[in-house]
Formats: sequence, structure tokens, C-alpha cells
Amino acid sequence: MEDKAHLHSVSLDVKKCKGCTNCLKRCPTEAIRIRGGHAVIKSERCIDCGECIRLCPYRAKLAKCDRLEDFSRYKWKIAIPAPALYGQFAELEDLDYILTGLLQIGFDDVFEVARAAELVSQYTRQYLHRPGIAKPVISSACPAVVRLISVRFPYLLDNVLPILPPVELAARMAKKEAMRRHPELEERDICALFISPCPAKVSYARNPLGVEKSAVDGVLSISDIYFRLVPALKKIDVPTVTSRSGIIGISWAGSGGESSALLNDKYLAADGIENVIKVLDEIEKENFAGLEFIELNACSGGCVGGAMNMENPFIAKARLQNLRRYLPVSQNRVNESEEQIPDELFWSASVDYQPIMQLDTDRAEALRKMQRMQQIGGTLPNLDCGSCGAPNCNALAEDIVCGEADESDCVIRMRQQIEDIWRTMGRMVHDGD
Ligand code: SF4
Ligand code: SF4
Repeated sequence: MEDKAHLHSVSLDVKKCKGCTNCLKRCPTEAIRIRGGHAVIKSERCIDCGECIRLCPYRAKLAKCDRLEDFSRYKWKIAIPAPALYGQFAELEDLDYILTGLLQIGFDDVFEVARAAELVSQYTRQYLHRPGIAKPVISSACPAVVRLISVRFPYLLDNVLPILPPVELAARMAKKEAMRRHPELEERDICALFISPCPAKVSYARNPLGVEKSAVDGVLSISDIYFRLVPALKKIDVPTVTSRSGIIGISWAGSGGESSALLNDKYLAADGIENVIKVLDEIEKENFAGLEFIELNACSGGCVGGAMNMENPFIAKARLQNLRRYLPVSQNRVNESEEQIPDELFWSASVDYQPIMQLDTDRAEALRKMQRMQQIGGTLPNLDCGSCGAPNCNALAEDIVCGEADESDCVIRMRQQIEDIWRTMGRMVHDGD
């Protein structure tokens, strides 16, 4: 059986890959190499951001998800739709149609992530008032961003909001609600299935952050559910499920939605993995004094830009704006008197630094390799052309000291060496005359 602890969502269809290097240079963690004419993903480095899926012109990168049929053994299957799902449908006037449609395609119940998002917004507002916390606080809602911080920006881990992300809270609340409303069910009869816009959240359910085990039992892609919902929606005359989300919850689907719910002007929202890295660099340099909260989404536009959506993110965002017109500001609030953040809302497991550039477990050997790497780096052309199969010259030097590549992989150096040989041979012939 496959070890779930190391199971990524993003994978490669080798047969489709042309080794074109489009994905190689844009991977934020340098997780891709070209070997044997095709891409290879270094598992320990991949944060499942989905960037390579979006970039590949040959559709060779894909996100592996669960299917609804995989959960037929459960008596009670709860759909946990991400708010981005609602933006996929043209002419949708009412969220209730989507929620009703989910029951028609095989789910037994539905619990909107947007409901939990409204509570997380309220608790985040409270958290920002806590004395002694590291600021700016960085949102923990995008798992690709949290993983990126854990591999590239370990000094910022203390700034990450240690509150459960909406998807986790939604799964827990959904299961509790199902047990209360259906006492005939046992815990093992119920599964919570997240309908996700992105591979990072598939990976989250398998390798959770901040909790030992996620309450999310499976993750289905929005694109898969979309094709099942379209025919079902046509058959609905009167919806039977009523949405319990408000503007605040639905707005989490787009970049800026989470931070605008904080009712605090001292925030910054950035989206797209390259912008995210720039912002994290600036926070590390302490260039954002005065800001209280940073919302970061790995996908352009926020979750509406996830690689598993159907619709263009700008169109999806416009549709959500239209849908919000008919909604109250929020439908999920805890009483002011209960405004203490419950302990179970906080992370119960730490998110630690995951060094991806560990040259050796032995310190002395690692130092030796580092010196060797610098030596090799000095002989490489520093063009970062990618033709060696590594994203840049430094990565090639690292691969060489780790025994995964050879100096002859650098085509520029190879050419220089061949030219040197020709020159030497020329001199020998000349001297022999
Ligand atoms: S973009 Fe990457 S995965 Fe796609 S064909 Fe090119 S090398 Fe292969
Ligand atoms: S999903 Fe992101 S981190 Fe993983 S290989 Fe693709 S671009 Fe790199």
C-alpha cells in the first residue's frame, strides 16, 4: 500500500512530457529536473502549488484526486464545497441550486467551507489583538504557502496564523452536526469530502499542517464535480438546501477576501507564487513595519485561480461578486460573550522547518559538500540556461555534489572542454610538423 504521509497530488505523465523545460525554471522550490528527456519531480521539495500544471503546454503535469465512488463504503458522505465552486457556473443566481445539486449527484449532506471561513475571520480578528504575537501575522489558509514557508522561510514560521484553516474546521463541524442530527450514525459511517480548487489542498488532507490527522477524508476536484453537477442542475425546479454562508465566507474564494473580512486596514494581500515569494522576502527583511496581517495565495487571483477549477479566475471572481449581492454580510458568528478563541481551534501540532537543501545528515560531510559545491559553482557559466536539466547553475552544482548529475551535463562547459581538446590537439599536430 502507498505511504500516505508522502503522497503528493501533483504528478507527471511521462508519456506526455517533452522535456521542454517550461516548468523547470518556474518551480518555486526547484523541485523539477529534466532527466532522460523528461521532467522528474523531487518529492521532498514539492509543495504541490500547481504552478507546473498551469505552465505545461503538453498537459503532462496533473493533480491526483479522490473520486466520489472511492467512498461508497461510508453511509453518510458530506460534501464540503470550497467557495470557488460557486464561481464555475454561468447564470447562477442562487447558491442553493449548487448545494441541492450536490445531494443529487450522490452526497448525503453538504456543509459549506464558507461557513467555517466566517468563523475563522472572526477568530483571526481576535487573534490579532493578542499581546506578544509575531506580526505581521501570515494567513495559514493556503497550504502551498505554509509549506513554502516551512521549506524556504523558516524564520517566518512564528508569524503563521496558528488557527485551523476553514476546510479543516468545516470538516470537523460537518461531522459533529451530522452526528447530532443523525444519532443512528456512528463516527466511522461518516466521511467529509472536500471539493477542492487546487492540488495543495489534496496534499493537505494527506499530509495535514498544524494537526496530526485531518478530519477531511477525501478531496475531489472541482472539475470532476462540475461535470457531474451540470446535468443535475438542469433538473432542479426548487432547491431543497438553503445556503448558510454570507458575503464574508464567499469572498474567501478570491485574493483579498480573507483580509478584507478583518475590518482592519493594516493588511496586504498578494497572489501568484512569484508575488508570494517576493512578499515573504520583504517580510524577512522587515520591510513591512506597521502591517498586521498578510494574506498570501499561491494561485493567481486566489482560490478561483486553482489548477483544478474549470473557469478563468477573473470570470469566476466576477460571478462570485454577482452572487454576493443577494447574501447577508455573514451568517456565522459566535456570541460576543463567547469571543474567547476555543483551544480546539488552534493548531495541535507544530509546523517545523523542512530543510530541502540538506547536503548531508553528517555536519562535517555537509560542510565539505558545501565547499565542493562552491568550487563547482565557480567553474559553471552562471547563465542559468536550464539545458543541463537543473533550473540554474547553483542547483546543478548541488546535484553534482549529491551524485545526481555530472559536470559534463553543463553543455557550455562541455563545449569549452571540447574546444580545449581541439586546441591542444591542434598544438600537438603543429608541434609535430
Ligand atoms: S512543461 Fe515540464 S512537464 Fe510539461 S512537457 Fe515541458 S518539461 Fe515536461
Ligand atoms: S507543484 Fe509546484 S512545487 Fe511541485 S513540482 Fe510543480 S511547481 Fe514545483
